[in-house]
Amino acid sequence: DEDPRIHGIKTKIGVVPNFPKPGIMFQDITPLLLDPKAFKDAIDLFVERFKDNNISVVAGIEARGFIFGPPIALAIGAKFVPLRKPRKLPGEVIFEEYVLEYGSDCLEMHLGAVEPGERVLVVDDLIATGGTLCAAMNLLERVGAVVVECACLIELPELKGRGRLNGKPLYVLVEYQ
Ligand code: AMP
Repeated sequence: DEDPRIHGIKTKIGVVPNFPKPGIMFQDITPLLLDPKAFKDAIDLFVERFKDNNISVVAGIEARGFIFGPPIALAIGAKFVPLRKPRKLPGEVIFEEYVLEYGSDCLEMHLGAVEPGERVLVVDDLIATGGTLCAAMNLLERVGAVVVECACLIELPELKGRGRLNGKPLYVLVEYQ
């Protein structure tokens, strides 16, 4: 059932215990980037899934959504919109704050980058609790965009982040238990 390319992608994701702090199993996607075949396979799988969905915007989440989002956007003929950490975007922005395990974080988007009614794919490397993707979707929906789906390379299913996406479909290549 599983696409044969998935196995090769899995072998290129490093697992680093206790990084960046105790108790976190960090999923490192940098080995994938060192393997042009596996990296291309990952992009191709997303492109095959999303090319016929009339998506006009790929929104990538800082920082690793900036690695995977742009090649998907180029291949499906969509524009790329960065969702950034605070005080990085020079123009007028809207922002969405969200709660983390310790403290809070914030994503910003340039006003005018996405028009009402545009169909958007949200891209990040990984979904853990789902808080980040949820904030990204809120930003886009506040400007009247339609979030078609979210896409990540990796899901940590134990954290049940999928349940925080208000029923929005989520496409992932790899699950890490
Ligand atoms: P969350 O908002 O809890 O779904 O966390 C997802 C965001 O945090 C993504 O941008 C990930 O890059 C990062 N992240 C969370 N947990 C991990 C992990 N175990 N390994 C790598 N990145 C992670």
